[in-house]
Amino acid sequence: MKLLEFEAKELFREEGIRVPRGLLVSEHEEILLHMNELGKKVVVKAQVDVGGRGKAGGVLMADASNVVETARHLFHTPIKGVPVPRVLIEERLAIEHEYYVSIAIDRSAKQPVILFADVGGVEIEGTAKKNPDAIRKITFSPLLSDVPNFLLRELTGNVPDGVREMINRLYRVFCKKDALLAEINPLVTTPEGVYAADAKLIIDDNALARQGIAVNRDLSEREREAEKHGFSYVELGGTIGVIGNGAGLTMSTLDLIEYYHGRAANFLDVGGGADQERVMHAVRLVASMPGVTVIVVNLLGGITRCDEVAKGIIAADVTPTVIVRMAGTNEEEGRRLLAEHGYRMLESMDAAVKTALEVAA
Ligand code: GDP
Ligand code: MN
Repeated sequence: MKLLEFEAKELFREEGIRVPRGLLVSEHEEILLHMNELGKKVVVKAQVDVGGRGKAGGVLMADASNVVETARHLFHTPIKGVPVPRVLIEERLAIEHEYYVSIAIDRSAKQPVILFADVGGVEIEGTAKKNPDAIRKITFSPLLSDVPNFLLRELTGNVPDGVREMINRLYRVFCKKDALLAEINPLVTTPEGVYAADAKLIIDDNALARQGIAVNRDLSEREREAEKHGFSYVELGGTIGVIGNGAGLTMSTLDLIEYYHGRAANFLDVGGGADQERVMHAVRLVASMPGVTVIVVNLLGGITRCDEVAKGIIAADVTPTVIVRMAGTNEEEGRRLLAEHGYRMLESMDAAVKTALEVAA
C-alpha cells in the first residue's frame, strides 16, 4: 500500500530523516493561526496518490498573504481527476540542489537496490529516458543492516556527507517498515542542511497487519463487500467481468481475454466449495461495477457443485450477459438448469471467452 506524503514523512522523521516543518489541514481549518510556526514562505501540497503531482498543479508556492486562498484552490481542484481531501502546508526550503534516491528490491538479484541521481526533481522520468547513465545503482546483500560505505560512495560520488547519511537512514526505514519502495525525490541540500522535500513509501500489503496499518482504508464499496464475503477481488477497468474458482483458473481466464485483445473489468475468485448463496453474491458483486457488460464464469466443479453454481447465477439475475463454462460434479444438472433459464454454457474456456468478447463488442 502506498502511503501519502505526510504519512511517509512521519515515518521518515522517526528514523531521523529531516523533513520540513509542516501542517496537515482539511478544508475549513484555521490555517492562519499556525502560519507563524512555518515562516513567511510556504509550499502547499495536495495529499493525493498521484504521480507527477507537482507538474499536474498539486504543489504550489504561497506566503501568508495567499496561503488560505491557495489551499482552498487545491481543495476545489482535483489533481488528475483525484479529489484533494487534505493539504500539507510546509515551510518552504531554500533549495540549493535536488537529488533523487530510491530503494527497492531487485527481484532477479534477490537484493536491495538503490538508485541515485544528482539531478532530482520533477523531471526525473525524462532523465531516466533521455540520459539513463545519470541514474546510478548499487545492489548489496540483504543481510547487511547498513548500506556498505564504499558502495554508498560509489553510488553518490561527490556529495555532502549528509546526503549519504540520509540514504542510510532511508534504508533503515525501508527495512523496518517492510517497504517495497522508499523514495525521496527531491532529496535537497539547503543552507540549513539536508532535507527530504518529498517522501514516497510503499508498504508490502502482507506486512500491513504487523505494521499496524489499517488494511482496507482505501477500498471501494465493492472491495469492502468482497472482503466481507472472503472473495479475492480486483478491479481493472475494462468491460468483461471474470469469476473463477482458484487463482490459477481465474488468472488463465484473464490471460485468455488478454490474448484475444479483450479487456477485463474485474476478477473474482470465489474460492473452494462455493454454494448457491456465495455464487449469487459473487455474480452480483462483479455485475455491480459500472461498465461491466458481460461476465465470464469459469469454474471447476470439485467440491463446488455445478448445479449449485447454476442456481446461484440464476438467483443473482443480473443485467450483464453471463457466459458460463464449468466442468465436474453435477455438470449435467447445472447445464440443464442454465439452459432452462436462457443462460449459455460452453464446453471450453476458449469458447466461453470468445463468446464473451463478441457480446462485449
Ligand atoms: P511531486 O511532483 O509529487 O513529486 O512533488 P514534490 O514534493 O517532489 O514537489 C515538486 C517540486 O516542487 C520539487 O521537485 C521542488 O522543485 C519543488 N518544491 C517542493 N518543495 C519545495 C520547497 O520547500 N522549496 C522549494 N524552493 N521548492 C520546493
Ligand atoms: Mn517528488
